[in-house]
Amino acid sequence: MRFPDSLFQNISFPCPGCDSDDAPPGGRGFCPACTAKLHIYPDDMLFCPGCGGPHDGALAVCSQCLAEPVRLWQSAAAVFPYYGFGKKLIREFKFANRPEFARPFGALLAQAVSRSNFCPDVLVPVPLHFSSFWRRSYNQAELLAKVCGRELDIPVISALRRIHAGTKQAKLGRRERHVLKKSFLCVKPDKLKGCRVMLIDDVLTTGATLSAAAGVLWACGISELAVAVAARTPAFGAMTQ
Ligand SMILES: [Zn+2]
Ligand SMILES: [Zn+2]
Repeated sequence: MRFPDSLFQNISFPCPGCDSDDAPPGGRGFCPACTAKLHIYPDDMLFCPGCGGPHDGALAVCSQCLAEPVRLWQSAAAVFPYYGFGKKLIREFKFANRPEFARPFGALLAQAVSRSNFCPDVLVPVPLHFSSFWRRSYNQAELLAKVCGRELDIPVISALRRIHAGTKQAKLGRRERHVLKKSFLCVKPDKLKGCRVMLIDDVLTTGATLSAAAGVLWACGISELAVAVAARTPAFGAMTQ
């Protein structure tokens, strides 16, 4: 049974980052101390359309995106850098059976999508392979998309399937990650044709996974594409200065 969100709006939940009682009602965010530690990108930051991270130059995309193949999407939204405390929480969300992070991360992602100037018709989460799904019992990207979709009143369509688990990305070199081709299959092409699509994932590192998914979506006849992620890997040294 699914309860309407309005039931939860005024209920206090502990902060998912530290268990304090200082979080906003409805479980839609973190306490001020955790929010500060996440280094959430400010609304007035100049965003890179390739990754949603900080734009650090005068070119079309940031220096990290310049080192990657041309992006297959026109804009990107991200919430915070994949570093330190934010990285720790994302890893708990993915690997430590903590689906409750979907609510605050999804609400923050909705804010990032709102300021991105891209108005999607549908949100499409990046899928897990069924073997990973079986181990974890939930797909963190799908949970993020569902919370984000509810916040923005945009439908979520789980239109992609992963067709082989492949080698773990962490074991692959940068070039090998771009050989993730044939990893995805669109199972609902009729529902995406002509749509403005926003692909949702938890983390953007090189963008190889999102690129593989993007190629499949374009082949379905979508009209526009953007990506939104909770966290973006920061440039080397950017968070230690
Ligand atoms: Zn906290
Ligand atoms: Zn970038």
